[in-house]
Amino acid sequence: METTLMNSQPIPSILVVDDTPANLLLLTGMLKGLGYKVRSVSDGEFAIQTARHDLPDLILLDVMMPGMNGYEVCKRLKMDDELSEIPVIFLSALNETADKVKAFEAGGVDYVTKPFQLREVQARVAAHLELHRQKKVIQESYDQLHQLEELRDNLVHMVVHDMRTPLTSMKGFLQLLDMVEGETMSKDGKEYINILTDATESLIELASSLLDVSKMEAGEMTLDLGECNMIEIIREVMGKVESLRGDRQFIFEEPKDPIFIQGDAKLLARVIQNLMGNALKFTPDDGSISIGIEAGETCVRVYVQDNGPGIPQESLGRIFEKFGQVKSQQNQRQYSTGLGLTFCKLAVETHGGTIGVDSEVGKGSSFWFSIPVNGPAEALPVDSSTANVCAVKS
Ligand code: ADP
Repeated sequence: METTLMNSQPIPSILVVDDTPANLLLLTGMLKGLGYKVRSVSDGEFAIQTARHDLPDLILLDVMMPGMNGYEVCKRLKMDDELSEIPVIFLSALNETADKVKAFEAGGVDYVTKPFQLREVQARVAAHLELHRQKKVIQESYDQLHQLEELRDNLVHMVVHDMRTPLTSMKGFLQLLDMVEGETMSKDGKEYINILTDATESLIELASSLLDVSKMEAGEMTLDLGECNMIEIIREVMGKVESLRGDRQFIFEEPKDPIFIQGDAKLLARVIQNLMGNALKFTPDDGSISIGIEAGETCVRVYVQDNGPGIPQESLGRIFEKFGQVKSQQNQRQYSTGLGLTFCKLAVETHGGTIGVDSEVGKGSSFWFSIPVNGPAEALPVDSSTANVCAVKS
């Protein structure tokens, strides 16, 4: 015999189901001779019980049997969570295409026709046992990876959470040092305090973003909903980032009437600040950034447009993902974690809205988000009418 079973692996077990004793004898003898563990039964109901008692790695199943036929047995196996993954090879005297199709439709992975060619049975059994083994290995690695991922997330969450308190205290003491000793300090000393304060603030921001993102991913972020004046929020954010503007121009075509929505003002301000922060990071010194807001009947659309380098098409799908960054920009010296847009996406989606970007390399990017006017509960599925109401007119 060509086939040998590898010593290092457990011996595969096969269940043979056939109501003809001669067939059972023939197949069982052949498979045992190949070194497999073999059990044989002669009816469908008993086959299911036997399989459940001790899961086999493969079932060879006769089609024509009195009582429950092979197709029905297979369907029952496939509906049972515990048994559904066991591969089933049908044994059939029928050779019509329709019968073979029926075997696959019932959930079989293969079939062999009677009278048996033992070498063919042997080859098909070996192939499907190997496939099943590999599938199990992949599933086990996937489960293990999933567990490790969960463990890592919990660990990161714990570390980041515990980091925030000492960092906040560091920032406080740096500010105190500046207040108390700043006057008498050398120019260099004051500069070092500023650098330290900036670095501490970046770390606090990183910790907060990580915690917020994991909270929102777990659906644990509760919105502090209230009436938000969106124009007011945009103006406030523009004031906050003014110090980073340099010679760049801000263009905000402010609508005449106020625009109110039900939302979490602080969270929405952080979304706009993130988008403006990115626009500032990527816009050249002599460039300009346009901020716009449009009110539709059911939603409000805000956009931040820059004339920076733009984002290559192949990166557009990645930038809203956790830690997703644009490859060609990775070497830029500016500090980047790829969490800002993930935060924006989750915050907008928690409001029942959508976020996106239109970008062209060499021309710039326009990030936009649209949120329902009446808060998350009023979120409408994104359909063409809503999209039109909120569409940015270019
Ligand atoms: P970070 O929080 O590190 O700034 P983001 O999640 O905000 O990262 O952005 C992800 C990536 O998307 C950035 O690394 C950058 O490459 C790209 N990106 C974001 N905004 C712009 C923009 N306005 N112009 C060009 N690239 C951008």
